[in-house]
Amino acid sequence: MAWRIQMSQTRRHLEHHPGINPAPFKATIESVTDEGVILSDSWCYPKGGGQPGDTGIFQSDGEEFRFGEVSASSHILHPVSSGNLQVGQEVDCVIDVERRNALASMHSAAHILSATANERWGAITVGNQLGVTESRMDLKFENRDEFDANILQDDANHWVNKDAEIMIHEWGRKQIMTDDRVRNRRFVERIIDRIGGSDPRLRMVEIEGIDLCPCAGTHLSSTSPIGDITIGRVQNKGKGTFRIYFEI
Ligand SMILES: [Zn+2]
Repeated sequence: MAWRIQMSQTRRHLEHHPGINPAPFKATIESVTDEGVILSDSWCYPKGGGQPGDTGIFQSDGEEFRFGEVSASSHILHPVSSGNLQVGQEVDCVIDVERRNALASMHSAAHILSATANERWGAITVGNQLGVTESRMDLKFENRDEFDANILQDDANHWVNKDAEIMIHEWGRKQIMTDDRVRNRRFVERIIDRIGGSDPRLRMVEIEGIDLCPCAGTHLSSTSPIGDITIGRVQNKGKGTFRIYFEI
């Protein structure tokens, strides 16, 4: 069974940027375990890179089965706590659109905050965790005393209000490494090295005028739908690092 799953299931979220407003899709159940359901094909975004995974509903023969946060290891797993789902059964998979869109907004907002903190103070983002209502990121500063949350909030909202276009690129090594807009290129090159192969491609997310960085998460197509970024509490994490909580 295992070989068949690996042969048939495609990493859709890696092939295509999952974006917002995911459409329902049909799939066949390939495996049911205590941990959840594996489908013949899945357009769900699995948790990763600080972004929570999709949730949603399977519909089949007039019944509905809710699935929890999708994750990925060797294949994409849809946790289902109850119901009598069978191998070979066809299901309509309806992704929770509101949750996906909220997390895409958060993810685009996080890129703006990360980029503007880097522009103004040279801060490096060393961690992040997105949530539907609140997200956080850890920013490491050369001189942390210079940081001002109000300035960061104003800088970030400037880019939100501009309605900057968000573009998704699939680029090779040369294009990435020769583009001066890519920050921290030594770090980016290590990601390219890890992909391996003769011409590794990396998904680059560009927010026009402010950011261009590798990312496999979900994003909006422009910045204004974010609405407004509000920075909440700021925690001292030591070693020149602040943990910044934000809402949109
Ligand atoms: Zn990202």
